[in-house]
Formats: sequence, structure tokens, C-alpha cells
Amino acid sequence: MSFSTLGLPQSILNAVTDLGYEKPTEIQKKAIPVVLSGKDLIAAAQTGTGKTASFVLPLLAQLSTEEKNAETHVGRKLRGKRIRALILVPTRELAVQVEASITQYGNHLSLSSMAMYGGVDAAQQKQRLIWGIDILVATPGRLLDMAHQRALHFDELEILVLDEADRMLDMGFIDDINKIIERLPQVRQNLLFSATISDDVRALAKRTINNPVEISL
Ligand code: AMP
Repeated sequence: MSFSTLGLPQSILNAVTDLGYEKPTEIQKKAIPVVLSGKDLIAAAQTGTGKTASFVLPLLAQLSTEEKNAETHVGRKLRGKRIRALILVPTRELAVQVEASITQYGNHLSLSSMAMYGGVDAAQQKQRLIWGIDILVATPGRLLDMAHQRALHFDELEILVLDEADRMLDMGFIDDINKIIERLPQVRQNLLFSATISDDVRALAKRTINNPVEISL
């Protein structure tokens, strides 16, 4: 099976070819069509399986199709701080890594992305939010701080991804995650990735996710 059978647009297939990927991994074959269909998803997948591309590729496709039909350049500028996709991750390292993947896979698109995490000065991150970011990859604590400071608005959020959900719960982020989810629009697409689907992960999924398709490797 090749990437071209999965329903991804040509601009994204070109980026994948540029990177030298020859065929999709198992998780990519299973997850990409589900995400493109707009359904919610729970996937059990470890790091190293190609899981990042399994949500980033179709997420970029979803956001870029709408972009084409969407408003004028001026319209987008006026929207300012509106985030369209939020990817929550447990650590700064993962935030940086996922954002780097978005930049690579979205090389032929005009979507903006940013990694936001604690432990660094917030002023620069705030400024970038003011310029406007389509896809935000963030750790829960810093994200909530920014939301409290009204530096962030979620009223146009379309897609939420919880990446490494089990690790986020192990690190004690459950209260922050719940508070973030309360701020999101009710109608949105939800994707959850976790190395293991523990009872706690399942409880989080139950509160967050609607009729998901479940995938395991
Ligand atoms: P991940 O599981 O998302 O951490 O990805 C592990 C590594 O696999 C990353 O370095 C990706 O660049 C690489 N990768 C992802 N998908 C593919 C693919 N279909 N073919 C070859 N390499 C891939």
C-alpha cells in the first residue's frame, strides 16, 4: 500500500515524498482515513511507530482544505489569535518534536504552528500568538497560564489531539487537561493517542471523546 491510496492531498504527499517515506506504517494506514473522515479516534500506539505523522498528516489535510474555501487574507489577519488545532503533549521535548514534524509535513502549505511550553519566558510566546497561529502544540500547564492571561482563544478550534495521554496522566496533568477542555467549543474532532489504554485513559476519553473509532496495533 502506498501513501497515495489514503486520501491525502497532493501537497502533503509531496512533503512525504520529499522526506523519503516510501509507504505508510501500520498506524498511519489505520488512522489517516479515520481522521480524514472527521471521526473521533482513540489509538494505542507507541513512539517509534510513526504515530506523529498518523495524526499530523490528516490534520494538515483537514485544515488546508477548509483554508482554500475560507476567507480572504484580510479575514484571516483579523482573526488574530484564533487557534484551529490544539495538540496537547506531556513534555517540552515532545512539543518541539511534534511541531518540527508539522513544519516538515506542512512544508507545501501555508499553515502556521508553534510549540508552547513552560520554563521559558512567556512574552515571546504571547507575541507569536498575537500574530496568529493555526496549530498549537503545547504542554498543559503553560497553555492554561496563557489562556488565563487571555492570550489565547479557542472559539474557532476544530481539532483537539491528546498525544501520549497515559504519560500526561502519569505526570499529574489531569486537572489542567480538564480545565482546558472546558474552554473548547463543544463541536470539535478529538484524537487521543496513548502507548497503553489504561482505565484512567479510558475515563479521560469517555469525558472528552465522542463515539470514537478505536485502533490498536
Ligand atoms: P514517531 O513514532 O511519530 O515518533 O515516528 C518515528 C520516526 O519514524 C520519525 O523519525 C519519523 O520521521 C519516521 N517515520 C514516520 N512515518 C514514516 C514512514 N511512513 N516511513 C518512514 N519513516 C517514517
